[in-house]
Amino acid sequence: MSLPRIAIVIPCYNEEQALPITAREILALIDRMADDELISRDSYILCCNDGSRDATWKVITDLHAADNRLKGISLAHNRGHQYALLAGLMTAKDACDAAISIDADLQDDPNAIIEMVRKFRDGKEIVFGVRSSRKTDTWFKRTTAHAFYSFQNAMGLETVYDHADYRLMSHRALELLSQYGESNLFLRGIIPQIGLETDIVTYERNERVAGESKYPLSKMLSFSIDGITSFSARPMRWIFMTGLILLVLDIFIAIYVLLAYFHHSAISGWTSIMLSVWFLGSLILMGIGIVGEYVGKIYIEVKNRPRYAIKDYLLD
Ligand code: UDP
Ligand code: MG
Repeated sequence: MSLPRIAIVIPCYNEEQALPITAREILALIDRMADDELISRDSYILCCNDGSRDATWKVITDLHAADNRLKGISLAHNRGHQYALLAGLMTAKDACDAAISIDADLQDDPNAIIEMVRKFRDGKEIVFGVRSSRKTDTWFKRTTAHAFYSFQNAMGLETVYDHADYRLMSHRALELLSQYGESNLFLRGIIPQIGLETDIVTYERNERVAGESKYPLSKMLSFSIDGITSFSARPMRWIFMTGLILLVLDIFIAIYVLLAYFHHSAISGWTSIMLSVWFLGSLILMGIGIVGEYVGKIYIEVKNRPRYAIKDYLLD
């Protein structure tokens, strides 16, 4: 078997500080793996500039001029991590035997790539990077992230626990991924559904090499809601079940109210009316909100817009 050509895909949003460090480290890793005859010499890095507002694209251009194994694409505007990643994977698809996605901040230990490639050479089509610990994340980040996985699983979205978007995908897996035409993109939900032979590699999560997180709690929350509503209708069923339980309760309440009426002991009733109006009002609003989520998704899917627009290429 000839040595596989590997593309390492890095989504970059305002990563001018981290990128030079990351590029140096990963190019050195490519050299080492090529020396060990694990991958071919023409393996490369593909940086996807996600409409950064800082000098990220300039940094990519300079790095490309110094070593053309570092390639780049630049999205016309900021589309978010998932779309930047998809743009990169789809660009690399026909120019590699396998692509590995990794963040620009080296929080995910790049040395796990070696193990991923070994598994790929043993015939695995998708290899998930799984964090063995989150010691260096703050307590808050760790707790919210774990709540995020548990909540998703409870809501019927199957994901690989403690796996973010650090993974290897073979050419065939990328080909299959390209057939998913949905606009609400949640790669961590889609990729386990692709099938094929998968495996995991565990690694220690590190601190960011430079710059700061582009994923505050608010973005994580909306990411989680997006994931759930793109994959599962379970929230709707929960609302329905709540309605059903309330209906049963209502029978008892009606009996109580009627008994009170016939015993002439009914008081003005202001408290109970206020309570039920507020309670039912909030339930109805919640229900409408959830239905709205799905209607919103249908609306976006129906429009069938292109999911990203690449402005510049540096692929030679
Ligand atoms: N990222 C991106 N577009 C965005 C936000 C983030 O391409 O709108 C990239 C970012 O440059 C990094 C990766 O997504 O390579 C993960 O972001 P970050 O490290 O800030 O997230 P965290 O590790 O804190 O969850
Ligand atoms: Mg990070």
